[in-house]
Amino acid sequence: MDWYDVDDVLYDGNEQEILRLTCPDCGGSIAFAYYADTASFEVTCKRCGHFSRDSGAPRPNCAVLLGDTATIGVTGAGESPKL
Ligand SMILES: [Zn+2]
Repeated sequence: MDWYDVDDVLYDGNEQEILRLTCPDCGGSIAFAYYADTASFEVTCKRCGHFSRDSGAPRPNCAVLLGDTATIGVTGAGESPKL
């Protein structure tokens, strides 16, 4: 998986697929933010700092399902995200 695949899942994936995402470079958790007023979408890896921004983007599925800003791929409650 690379960042193109991550973007695909963020835009078009279902909730289960989105919540499984982690950074393809380092396995860290991913934070996203969608700004409806500017139609821009930012994705950041919380560990390695990878950053990408799309503008003119339609609201991605991840923002519809989880809210306009969220962090996913967080390891919590002794459970590791798979894939
Ligand atoms: Zn990373």
